[in-house]
Amino acid sequence: MPELPEVESIKLTLAKNTLGKKILDAEIFWPPAAVSIADLDFAELVKDRVIENFDRRGKYLLIGLNNGITMIVHFRMTGRLIYYPEKQPVDKHTHVVFYLDEGEMHYSDIRKFGRIQLVPTQKASDISSLAKLGPEPLDECFAFDTLGQRLAKKKSSIKAALLDQAVIAGLGNIYADEALFRAGILPGRNTQSLKVSEIILLYNSICEVLTEGINARGTSFRDYRDADGNRGSFQENLMVYGRGGMECKECGSLLQREKIAGRTTVYCSQCQK
Ligand SMILES: [Zn+2]
Repeated sequence: MPELPEVESIKLTLAKNTLGKKILDAEIFWPPAAVSIADLDFAELVKDRVIENFDRRGKYLLIGLNNGITMIVHFRMTGRLIYYPEKQPVDKHTHVVFYLDEGEMHYSDIRKFGRIQLVPTQKASDISSLAKLGPEPLDECFAFDTLGQRLAKKKSSIKAALLDQAVIAGLGNIYADEALFRAGILPGRNTQSLKVSEIILLYNSICEVLTEGINARGTSFRDYRDADGNRGSFQENLMVYGRGGMECKECGSLLQREKIAGRTTVYCSQCQK
């Protein structure tokens, strides 16, 4: 699933390719993927509109059009939004194609959980999925004490708290496990047990892994591609995610794999306390 660094990479590559371009038409091959406003026609609402701006909230991509409408894209498991400079054939996983005045933008999704939702731009931040999101971890105003306060309220395992988008936006299984490894904190620990020194370590680790993830243009473990169709490279830097049963790169002991908060979680029982 694309997490914050992957969605940020899609945003940057899409903006580079499509900002200021006009949507001449949209074709919908699988209607549930394209959610319109009330019973208005999706294609009609985006037709002849210029792509005016890009934004991101947590794992959501926001594409603003010049008619006061924003497309909110949630990629979920396997959603992809790719720009092609030339005409491109569709396949059975292509659900929406935007024909631009130069090139095409294809939304495809193998697992079909992702959605492109149209909303009035002024109300975008009020729609329930965005309104309940916690702070952006890379915002300048997000400090370690904000993280500490939000974790303290959440009486759960630290892993569950980091995955909760209402506590902090944008982290998923990959970056949560990596941040916890770097901070030296066991994922099953209760949030209430964290000392201030550990929250500072965790805060720094979260900012670090997300920034490094963005700089590596994301993690391509299975499906993820940016809007140029390229893989990211952060998978080469992973210390724990996807490495259960393998040797810890720091201490050599075997990494543990355990279901925590309903998700496969990998950690080192020596490096993490
Ligand atoms: Zn270790």
